[in-house]
Amino acid sequence: MRSLVNEDCQLQLVRKNVLKEKTKIYFGSDIIGDKLCIIAGPCSVEDETTTLRIAEKLAKLGLRFFRAGAFKPRCSPYSFQGLCEKGLTILEKVKKETGLKIVTEVIDIGVIDIVAEVADILQVGAKNMGNTSLLKKLGCCNKPILLKRGMAAQLDELFLAAEYILLGGNSNVILCERGIRTFNNYTRFTLDIAAIPMIKDTSHLPIFVDPSHATGRRDLIIPMSKASVAAGADGLLIEVHDEPDKSLSDADQTIGIKAFVTLLRELDNPLG
Ligand code: PEP
Ligand code: MN
Repeated sequence: MRSLVNEDCQLQLVRKNVLKEKTKIYFGSDIIGDKLCIIAGPCSVEDETTTLRIAEKLAKLGLRFFRAGAFKPRCSPYSFQGLCEKGLTILEKVKKETGLKIVTEVIDIGVIDIVAEVADILQVGAKNMGNTSLLKKLGCCNKPILLKRGMAAQLDELFLAAEYILLGGNSNVILCERGIRTFNNYTRFTLDIAAIPMIKDTSHLPIFVDPSHATGRRDLIIPMSKASVAAGADGLLIEVHDEPDKSLSDADQTIGIKAFVTLLRELDNPLG
């Protein structure tokens, strides 16, 4: 494959030739970067009853990693901004009661410590991919980081963002393709499927795909998940709610439990 990395781009630690093997991230017997891994849950942490109910239903299906944002970096200041610290307390309860590993977003350096107390994986959202002070601090964090591609970022820029974290000493970085902005207006963003094999050809880091934010449409989650797996994704990040129309954020792209079960079946049940 022709290299995508231009020679002026100072990639070092993310490059495949630095490590002989792909990066694997171990959570006891659950491993990211090995077989297909699914992270699922609602866009936002909602009230305790709703969040726990969804988590329990997903845990029963064999899910190991639960996503939900307590701090929500929304496009509009008038939209739901997340439950913030209260949301973290709810996630702590989810973790305790279900054993699920928690994936949740860190939106600025001021909340790294409190998010890291609860999260098993800290998510850096698309809007923050270029926030270099946040990336530098996360380089000193002892938790894995799920780094989302910015909506207008080239792959070199995603790699350089990861390089900031690796350079700080944190080698547990997961990259995430979540759609980029194009002229197409029938999906929210455009899922860059070709990025998956290109990233794998360049870097040893695991690559996840988020078909929920990439498409903004729940009817596209199953086909785009299957396409991502066919292209070599190490994992999927999927928005799921047991009453998707009532989701406090991103309802249009959130699938219900039944569709999630169908997706698992069509992927030969990666949770089984
Ligand atoms: C999210 O995963 O909840 C999210 C906000 O995604 P993104 O940063 O990709 O927009
Ligand atoms: Mn969302």
